Amino acid sequence: MTQRGLADLHLHTSFSDGWPSPAEVVDHVTLHTSLDVVAITDHDTVEGALRAAEYARSTLSPVVVIVGEEVSSRHGHILGLFLERRIRPGLSAAETVEEIHAQGGLAIAAHPFWRTERMATRFRGPVHGTGWLAAELDFDAVEVENSTPGLGLANRLARRLAEATGLAAVGGSDAHILPAIGKSATSFRGRSARALRSALENCTTRPVRSRYEVSALLRYAAWGINHERVATVSAQLPERLRA
Ligand SMILES: [Zn+2]
Ligand SMILES: [Zn+2]
Repeated sequence: MTQRGLADLHLHTSFSDGWPSPAEVVDHVTLHTSLDVVAITDHDTVEGALRAAEYARSTLSPVVVIVGEEVSSRHGHILGLFLERRIRPGLSAAETVEEIHAQGGLAIAAHPFWRTERMATRFRGPVHGTGWLAAELDFDAVEVENSTPGLGLANRLARRLAEATGLAAVGGSDAHILPAIGKSATSFRGRSARALRSALENCTTRPVRSRYEVSALLRYAAWGINHERVATVSAQLPERLRA
């Protein structure tokens, strides 16, 4: 039987709003995880991903780095994998998916049911995910496991979306800190980027997730104080309790 590999398809670095540098991500994945493949998907840039891929090659890391981007479309975040150049934010979701495919990339509906009302940071639009609109677009996969704390219900809805559309179901940590890397991941037959790609195209990927240690949750809380997770929480508070 062919061995199964493990990929984390959704990671951020200091080139957007993540804390670790691309080199720190690659070192951490190499030394402390069992991941075979990682996709670096910073918000609206491929620079961090290109650096990570170059660093992995130059240090002879066994980890394969896929160049990706989490594109802020007008209708929500969309992950592009196997990219060659940046896709600009602000396009419609349909145009964004088209641009990803035009480069030979694959398009994934990121955390489709993570919705907030407010504009939070320059990396974030008023909505995080494309919601049910994803069912009408030419996506290659749906992210059904995202490890951002508190997304349990959103992940369950995303699973329904994947089942309803028959698209590949994947997991990605959406890590912005090192201990979150690999908390959600995608299992696939084989170990290489090429094998991952064909698993996505043939809808044979399997999402997997593991629990956070308390220390990792505390670190995530510290990261969230500086970022849009605060807006996510405040958006759920009754109007009168908001600052
Ligand atoms: Zn996102
Ligand atoms: Zn993300």
